[in-house]
Amino acid sequence: MSDQEGVIKYQLSHQSRAIEDDISITSINAWRTLLFKLELIGQLEGRYDGYAFGNISQRLTAINCENVQFIISGTQTGNIASLSRHHYCLVLDANLQQNSLRSTGCCKPSSEALTHASVYQQDNAIQSVIHIHCPEIWRNSHELELPCTAADISYGTVAMAAEVKRLFDTAPLQNTDVFSMLGHEDGIVAFSDSMEKAALLLIQLLADAIAIKQRR
Ligand SMILES: [Zn+2]
Repeated sequence: MSDQEGVIKYQLSHQSRAIEDDISITSINAWRTLLFKLELIGQLEGRYDGYAFGNISQRLTAINCENVQFIISGTQTGNIASLSRHHYCLVLDANLQQNSLRSTGCCKPSSEALTHASVYQQDNAIQSVIHIHCPEIWRNSHELELPCTAADISYGTVAMAAEVKRLFDTAPLQNTDVFSMLGHEDGIVAFSDSMEKAALLLIQLLADAIAIKQRR
């Protein structure tokens, strides 16, 4: 596939040091472990040239704070069943126009951190963003009536950040908290005002996609 998973496309200024002890990873890590069990985040033989896929983030800053900071799973951690603190990093700020991102952590942020940042910047109420890879949902994007980013737009780019903004601005994402990335094989993004809601939305969609398949 041309849109290879796992390659960081933004300018990263990263400081290699552990995230602060008072940042809790309990919730994000529990949901991430469950999504790994469902193979929605992971690394599977025969998929994406062996690259790991999927990532999860949680907003840390208050709703009224302009500069959104969030923790996100690190790049190429998808092969690990259960992550620990040093597999997460903190995004301090992201500049979508300049395609740049600043972070700290024992590992570098996910290659799709810029897409997460663009979602957070659309609505201050968003507390969590989850990006999974799911062939069942992705192939049924239209049947499931999911808003879609354009097929010629690749993951982790400024163009994708602008496309996410377009989906919010032109209404498709005013009624649903999930979209499909047509230019990124199997890529789905969900977000919500809680991590639980974003994760449950994806699980519900997977059940709906399985039902569509079983009806055929
Ligand atoms: Zn992806």
